[in-house]
Amino acid sequence: MARARKKAIPFGDPLILGKESFLPEDRGLVHLEVGHLITHELLTMPVHVIRGKLPGPRIFVSAAIHGDELNGVEMIRRLLKKTRLLNRLRGDLLAIPVVNVPAFLGRSRYLPDRRDLNRLFPGSPEGSSGSRLAKLFVSEIVAQCSLGIDLHTGAVNRPNLPQIRVSPKLEKNRELGVAFGAPVVMQTKTLEGSLRAVMEEQRKPMLMLEAGEALRLDANSIRFGLRGILNVMRHLEMLPAEKSPAKQRPIVVSGESYWARAPRGGILTPLVALGKAVTPDTPLGFIADPFGKGESKIHPKEEGIVIGRTNLAIADEGDGLFHIAVTKNANAAARKIRRSGTELAEEDDHPVSDEPLLD
Ligand SMILES: [Zn+2]
Repeated sequence: MARARKKAIPFGDPLILGKESFLPEDRGLVHLEVGHLITHELLTMPVHVIRGKLPGPRIFVSAAIHGDELNGVEMIRRLLKKTRLLNRLRGDLLAIPVVNVPAFLGRSRYLPDRRDLNRLFPGSPEGSSGSRLAKLFVSEIVAQCSLGIDLHTGAVNRPNLPQIRVSPKLEKNRELGVAFGAPVVMQTKTLEGSLRAVMEEQRKPMLMLEAGEALRLDANSIRFGLRGILNVMRHLEMLPAEKSPAKQRPIVVSGESYWARAPRGGILTPLVALGKAVTPDTPLGFIADPFGKGESKIHPKEEGIVIGRTNLAIADEGDGLFHIAVTKNANAAARKIRRSGTELAEEDDHPVSDEPLLD
């Protein structure tokens, strides 16, 4: 169960996690105890601990706070396979591939009681099972780390262009977002009950990565995310600098986004891919009535770039279809994104029609 909040400890002291203790250079996997299931089995949250030889920051990298968001789980698995690189770690890495184990087992975004774990932070030891899990994460992981990277994806059938979301309240967040190498950094307000809100309140920087969609692995997103995590660790001097470091790429910073929604129900033909520049003149797609002759074009209300979209070909009136980050000079922004090489291999997987609209 959750324990009292811990204070930062000197590097040479043991790092206590659950019932285990780690000295510098120690490694291991700790099963933090969440609580018992109906079947009496103990539910745990596994945490990989890697302590460096030399002092440095202590950070966490977490995934699957939403149980169906799998790209981050794979990013962490590949991160932990970099044993030679991690042998040179300064500071400590706590890696949590699956925070929300019950939701992960259920292939669901949500906890078994249908709550969203990322609305239950900082949690309570007397709360619902999800609230206790949130509390455990805060008291064991957040309290002992000075910085975090939390990995997410879009929802089912709603892929996101790889992007970093940060609270605008901490200047360090933007610097780390740039270090990550994300082509898009969204400076957005934190939601009440989110892990980001807890980190903001504790004045600890946190990057939230959004890349790809739920229940799928996307090779580009995983490569991009892993590279970004390593970039941040190098920036923090937790890992040695690369011999020939990649040039820092330009980024697009946006503080506002909106969904272009279906003006009517029908069959959706999208005309733009993730990462593309759009203006109010750009047709995003059209919706056709399968039982009549009606067709409606969808246009953005403001200039920007497409950072998320639906892959479903059917929409009800009002459904969010294209998520657009507002930015001036969207064409230049889209060029930066193209140069970053982070566009999802969308054309291969989900063909985008380039047919002219019918009249
Ligand atoms: Zn998520």
